[in-house]
This record gives sequence, structure tokens and C-alpha cells, in this order.
Amino acid sequence: MRRARGDRTGPRLHRWGSRTTFCRGLKRAVGGARPGETVAVLCLDLDQFRIVNYTLGHEAGDAVIRTVAHRLAECIGAAGSCAHMGGDEFALYVRTSDADTATWAERVLAAVEQPIPVVGREVRLTASLGIATTSTSGRDANRLLCDAAAALHEAKEGGRNTFRQHTPQASRRFMDQILLAHDFERALSNGEFFLEYQPRVHIHSGAITSAEALLRWRHPERGLVAPGEFIGTAERTGWIVPIGRWVVEEVCRQIREWLDAGLPVVRVAVNVSARQFQLDDFVHHVARTLSCHRIDPGLLEIELTETTVVENVESARRKLEALRGMGVSVAIDDFGVGYSSLSVLHRIPVDALKLDRTFVQENGIGGWSVMGTIIDLGHRLNLCVVGEGVETERQVSVLRAHRCDEVQGFYFSRPVPAPDFMRMLAASRLGRSGEGAAGPVAPRGSAQHPEVMGV
Ligand code: C2E
Ligand code: MG
Ligand code: MG
Repeated sequence: MRRARGDRTGPRLHRWGSRTTFCRGLKRAVGGARPGETVAVLCLDLDQFRIVNYTLGHEAGDAVIRTVAHRLAECIGAAGSCAHMGGDEFALYVRTSDADTATWAERVLAAVEQPIPVVGREVRLTASLGIATTSTSGRDANRLLCDAAAALHEAKEGGRNTFRQHTPQASRRFMDQILLAHDFERALSNGEFFLEYQPRVHIHSGAITSAEALLRWRHPERGLVAPGEFIGTAERTGWIVPIGRWVVEEVCRQIREWLDAGLPVVRVAVNVSARQFQLDDFVHHVARTLSCHRIDPGLLEIELTETTVVENVESARRKLEALRGMGVSVAIDDFGVGYSSLSVLHRIPVDALKLDRTFVQENGIGGWSVMGTIIDLGHRLNLCVVGEGVETERQVSVLRAHRCDEVQGFYFSRPVPAPDFMRMLAASRLGRSGEGAAGPVAPRGSAQHPEVMGV
């Protein structure tokens, strides 16, 4: 992408400057701010701009960047200045008041949203915006730009096409994520990742039907890091690919170890992120790993979110057919909260729906009636429906009343290290009750006895 420069032919007030001119202007504005005046710095990033370059070509992309720069300069007018920082990123500053900062942000986003005519077409764009002000970040121009960049990161995390104001917590989170991204390589080679296993149980018999493998990171300085803190960063940086491959390999290695120890092995589910699933060799890698460890594919399940599948339905369908053809089962995870399309659900081959825990934990008829409807839908499509995040006996009864098939949650067991899960399986073997599943598991805190289950 060539850098757009100030448009010498544009109206005088609506010019945009280079980064150096911008920084000089920002320092002057901060230094000269009058009492009660705030200088707000806005970092802007066009959402999914690469699609313009891919579909219309780089020349058209450059023209779009010039138009956006022009509009931003026009929008800010004499209240501040704006610069193209490279790629699809812009920085703006505006002399305003704390009360008016959000209005400026809305105005800037609205300016970007207007259709842009280019090569005989109309391009519609949205942007994400991060804001830092002298009131919260102080009067150092570099600090203001860094804080606005951290807030921009938050805006992107928040789903794009929005703005966020800087907070110290946002900056810390941003720095943490950058630092974490640097640590992934070391974590993989030093064996800092490990898996915990959480049982899934049959709602009537209480038998353990399978386990879900959940990733954990034993970080040398930070201690135990939960997946919620690093999976997003791993996805954005691409590290999810080697990490996700490691998870599949580790699960297969673990199953082989259980088999060799003569334990009653159950199917293990692995969470697969969109980026990992979209790889051309995803199915091949799963097949090769299963065969390398001599594992029956029926002992593996993959969990995908609705959004992953909806992103490219045809390709997802082909891959899922190949996996199921091999004998691997497929579950849709966190069902009901992603970008879902019921027609898609009908077209893709899956075995189970995992009902998102927000439905299970909803305390009220409204929430539970939605839950009941989803369970019926799953049954009509011949799917096994699993209630996730089950924490109380009451939730188990409600799920049972709605004819849910299986349940998973702290009520039965938290995710536990492999040796503990092995012990749980071995103990449940004593009360073994049904083909392909281990015996009943007692709720946490109660004696290990089938009757205590209350399911
Ligand atoms: P998920 O796949 O929906 O996994 C279930 C999460 O709910 C787990 O959180 C589990 O510990 C938690 N959970 C289970 N029962 C209960 C309960 O009764 N109450 C509550 N409040 N929570 C419960 P965890 O282990 O922190 O994982 C969070 C998410 O991180 C997972 O959600 C999954 O999306 C992702 N994740 C975990 N491991 C992997 C992995 O190996 N690869 C990928 N791509 N994502 C993973
Ligand atoms: Mg899951
Ligand atoms: Mg889930």
C-alpha cells in the first residue's frame, strides 16, 4: 500500500499531513491547551480493509485511503489535524472538552461509513477507533498515541465498528497480550502447555460418556494462565495453529496411554478454533495423528463454534463429512450465542449441540424456555444435546425435564489433570452402566455413589 500524502489539490482546510507534521502539531496543541480544554487523540483503523485490496486491487485501495483521509481531515476541520500513519491506519487529534469527546468519535465513524465511489463501484467501510485524552493520559504526545492505540485494540476486540476510550486497565491488557504473544514459541518448546479433562455425563444414568480436553498454560512468571486470557491472542497471531495441533497430538498421546494402562477409555473432545479448522490440511493432520497413535477415530470429537462453520459453509461441510466418514464425531460448541443460521445447521453434518451455559444458568422461565426450544430443535435434527456449565441440582432437573441428553459442569466435576481424570474413570468403572460409557460419576462434594447423583 502506497502512503497517501496531503492532497495538494484539496481545499486548504481539508488537508492531511505526514506523521511528523502531525506529531509536531499534536505537541503544539497539547502545550497550548487552555484551562478546561482537552486534546483528544483518536487512532483509527479501517475494518477488514484488506478485502478492498483483494477484490478491487491495490490501486483502488489507495484511492479509498485517499478519500478516507480527505473525509477525516474535513470532519476535523480547524479543530485539529489528521495523518495517515500507514496501511489502513490514521491518527487524529482534536481540541475539545471531555464532554464532547464521544461526539467527535461518532462523527468520525459516521464520516468513514459514507459510501466511497471507486472504479465504478461503491465501497462501504466501517472503522474502529481508540481515544485517549489529556485528561486521563497526561500531556505527553507519545503517551497519548500509545494509549489511543491500546484503546483501538479494545475497540477491535469489542467487535469493531465502534470506539473505546482509553483506560489504564486497557493499556495493561494490551501490553499483557503483546508480551504473551512473544511467549508462545517458548511455551511450546518448553512444554508449558498441558490439558485438563472435564467429564460429560449421561443425564439419566450419570455415566461418563466422554471428556472435554481444556488447554492450560503454566507460565514461568505469571503462573497458571486460563485459555480465556490467551486463545484470542494466539488466534490473532497465528500461534493457535501450532498450539491447536499440539492439543490434538497430546489428546491422542493421552488416550494411547490410558489404553495401554488398561483403563476404561471414553471419547475425548478437542476445541478447534476457526483458524485451525480453516487450514487445508486440518483433516489430514487429525487422520495422521490418530493413526500414528493407533487410536480408534470414534474416541475423538472435535468442538467447533457456530461462527467457525458459518464463515465458509461449503468448505466446512466437506471437512466435517471427511471427519465423520473416518468416525470422528463433531459437536457445535456454545450453541445459541454465535452467528448462527438454522439453515446452516441443517446442511452440515454434526453429532451434538452443546448448549451455551448462559441458557443453562439463566434463572427464569424466559431463559429456560429458550433452552427447551433449542433442545427440541437439536432432537428434531437427530442430535445429542449437551447442557454446559451445569452448577446446581436444580439446573440438572430443569435440563432433565426438557429432555436434554447429556450434561457437563462444576456440579459433576471441574476440569481436572489427566491422572485425576484417570482415577475418576477407573472408580466409575466399578459402577459401569452401559456400552461405550464409564459408570456414574457423583456430584462434587458427595460420596462416590450412584444414588447420590440425583440425575
Ligand atoms: P468451552 O469449550 O466452552 O469450554 C467450557 C468452559 O467452561 C471451560 O473454561 C470450563 O472450565 C468452563 N466450565 C465448565 N463447567 C463450568 C461450570 O459449571 N460453570 C462455569 N462457570 N464454567 C464452567 P476454560 O477451560 O477456561 O475454557 C474457556 C474456553 O477456552 C473454552 O470454552 C474454549 O472455547 C477455549 N479453549 C479451551 N481449550 C482450548 C483449546 O485447546 N483450543 C482452543 N482453540 N480453545 C480452547
Ligand atoms: Mg468446548
Ligand atoms: Mg462451550
